[in-house]
Amino acid sequence: MQTRFSKEQLKNKNNKSSEKILRKCVHCGFCNATCPTYQLLGDELDGPRGRIYLIKDMLENNKPANDRIVKHIDRCLSCYSCMTTCPSGVNYMHLIDHGRSHIEKTYKRPFFDRFTRNFLSKVLPNSTYFKIVSKLTLLVKPFQFFFPKKIREMVRIMPIKFPKKTMPQMKIYKTDKKKKKVARIALLTGCVQKVISPQINESTIRLLNRHGIEVIVPKGIECCGSLNHHLGKTDLAYNTFKKNISIWHDEYLKNGLDAIISNTSGCGTTLKDYGFIFRMDSDLKKKAKKISELTKDISEYLDDNVKLNFIENGENKKNYKIAYHSACSMQHGQKIHKIPMDLIKKTGNQVFDIPDGHLCCGSAGTYNLLQGDIAKKLLKNKILNINKINPEFIITGNIGCITQISNGTKIPILHTVEIIDWYTGGPKPKILRNL
Ligand code: SF4
Ligand code: SF4
Repeated sequence: MQTRFSKEQLKNKNNKSSEKILRKCVHCGFCNATCPTYQLLGDELDGPRGRIYLIKDMLENNKPANDRIVKHIDRCLSCYSCMTTCPSGVNYMHLIDHGRSHIEKTYKRPFFDRFTRNFLSKVLPNSTYFKIVSKLTLLVKPFQFFFPKKIREMVRIMPIKFPKKTMPQMKIYKTDKKKKKVARIALLTGCVQKVISPQINESTIRLLNRHGIEVIVPKGIECCGSLNHHLGKTDLAYNTFKKNISIWHDEYLKNGLDAIISNTSGCGTTLKDYGFIFRMDSDLKKKAKKISELTKDISEYLDDNVKLNFIENGENKKNYKIAYHSACSMQHGQKIHKIPMDLIKKTGNQVFDIPDGHLCCGSAGTYNLLQGDIAKKLLKNKILNINKINPEFIITGNIGCITQISNGTKIPILHTVEIIDWYTGGPKPKILRNL
């Protein structure tokens, strides 16, 4: 694609990177075929090619965003299905991040929109605020019908259960006494995940400890920063990125880290991008690159580094039929698809890909809160496809998808790490108690 940035504009590092990305696009439109919003809405501007043109127009002409641009960019899920399909290697992820940041700087959203986005950007990344707001939401739930549609939708999908933690909160989780320590990793326990599904982190810690891996959870790290990054709130996101990089890098230098583990694929995608984000920051670029290199999804780490000790414990003898939901951030963001399925197959159960599995379930960070109508349609399609398999339970590797899918079906859904933990000596996941 031809671009018309001036020399002056190209002195800006973000313009320079976006120009490189734009020049790779050959307008072929293959990406539209696998874009969930283009498939649903059928408008060129709701597909990747159209959005690329909108972003190009804003950046090249130094134009502030307007209602039309914002509408179509906001409808993008950041699912990156288009990146998997694109034959020219267009890095749509970096381009839309730049586009969103430009929108945030140049466009004044209507009051309600501004309020909601500011509210989410403060509440979701902070587990204490999130817990308080979720509990308050429980109180107003019976009166949700009196609220405007958007708020009603948000109240509807807020969590209603807060499982109790069964492990104490510690900085270091040491390996089992009988086990020789073979590695030391830092675990990102996440912001929302540790409130609504603490069992995922507990399974991860138990499983790693049982296999000789010490787990540390450094104080001060909560959110990966992706929620604000995708809302275009660059300053808030960068503050979080910088804090995380500094804490993990200090730990790496002082005590050694073999990996930084993410068990939420949305967060893992962002951590792996820290190196790119700070590529031109002379103080941070080396540290950020190191953090990205150390980051592994839990499935990737288990596959590469751990000889899993599968055992029958009496309860796990049954041969289950499992649907594997490949989160977009896992399959398109991190290009990990086969590894978790192969790990689950090692438990001896039958694992099936969901038809049209490349399409998003509608979760996408804050998307189901901000674009409820589209998210609901995507969820409905996902559930129809899951039902074609008729599974006894569903497995995925991302808390956002777990929450979204469980809003559309009674079929139990759990994290990949929970079944691996169970089949290597951990407890049966509570959600499967009736199976
Ligand atoms: S990220 Fe997803 S929703 Fe956005 S343009 Fe690409 S395929 Fe479409
Ligand atoms: S598939 Fe790639 S090259 Fe083709 S229009 Fe989409 S982004 Fe551009």
